[in-house]
Amino acid sequence: MKKLGFGLMRLPCKSSDGKDIDLERVSEMVDKFLSRGFTYFDTAYVYHGGFSEVAFRECVVKRHPRDSFTITTKLPLFSKPDRAGMEKLFNESYERLGVEYIDYYWLHALNRDSYRYAKDSGAFDYLRELKAAGKIRHMGFSFHDNAETLDKILTEQPDMEFVQLQINYLDWEDGGVQSRLCYETAVKHGKPVIVMEPVKGGALANPPKKVEKLLKDADPEASCASWAVRFAASLPGVMVVLSGMSNIEQVEDNVSYMEDFKPLNEDEKAMLLSAAEDIKLAIPCTACRYCTDGCPMSIKIPDIFAIYNTMKRDLHKKWEAREKYAELIKESGKADDCIGCEQCVNACPQHLEIPRLLAECSADLS
Ligand code: SF4
Ligand code: SF4
Repeated sequence: MKKLGFGLMRLPCKSSDGKDIDLERVSEMVDKFLSRGFTYFDTAYVYHGGFSEVAFRECVVKRHPRDSFTITTKLPLFSKPDRAGMEKLFNESYERLGVEYIDYYWLHALNRDSYRYAKDSGAFDYLRELKAAGKIRHMGFSFHDNAETLDKILTEQPDMEFVQLQINYLDWEDGGVQSRLCYETAVKHGKPVIVMEPVKGGALANPPKKVEKLLKDADPEASCASWAVRFAASLPGVMVVLSGMSNIEQVEDNVSYMEDFKPLNEDEKAMLLSAAEDIKLAIPCTACRYCTDGCPMSIKIPDIFAIYNTMKRDLHKKWEAREKYAELIKESGKADDCIGCEQCVNACPQHLEIPRLLAECSADLS
């Protein structure tokens, strides 16, 4: 299998709530991806408020033969479903996708707390039953916590076949994300790795000028994003690197260098790891958008954080950032509308203190 996977969490939309996906544009994107020999797609029950799975059915399942693609989706445990609730969630995904079987089915975003719940509620056994019944082909989990917790899960659940990890050159040595340590733990347990967030929610596609120059000097033709994807794909034991593609240009760029993938050499890897020192983000948000659906004040949290990060990286852009922020909040909540309910904090896989960070954004952007 080629090592690039199509992440279906940042699809082009016709409306700002992320639910009116532009199926014509997505069809063009998936056709290009499949025509170049790529097969792996990744979605989740929660992406685009459930419409990502529907878009996959409309653009891929109804338009391409079943043996030309593989599909992953994920069982959310955020609302602590009981066994009947899990069956309901699975059946909804199953119907939305419109396939007879799901190739890869993951428990979504395990960490220390949700692992405890998954174990106590029988979620792992539910995956085993689905596999025995032929409704899913492979089972595993996506993961957001430290290497010690990952080691515990893989030791206690040895039949989980794959693990999806956040790996990129910025987080490789990060003490919180622990990309390297988590990767090494998965390898120790002999589990193939699917990589998510290789471009850190887009941040590594637009790094600071100094890093951009370094990368362009090394290869004028290569995009900054390509360096980040290739860093993750070069790791032995990595099966697929997911890229959440939003337009045809991103698809064309990604397939161009992943079609005949060439791993980075040791000097190139060292260059990226040293560049990471110059890219510290003020707020390490990956724009996954898990926090936005339940916000009672309709605050576009990741969009505010992205504007704030750009401003902090380049103080000359302060006025531009303020203008962007003023535009953003015309149709959504302001940073200082936050009432501190912490719904978003519980949903955030990066464990960000969102209300406090929004207050900082408000102070600088208002
Ligand atoms: S804490 Fe603030 S930002 Fe988070 S969900 Fe509640 S109101 Fe929205
Ligand atoms: S704040 Fe957290 S949950 Fe929200 S988009 Fe960023 S990383 Fe995802």
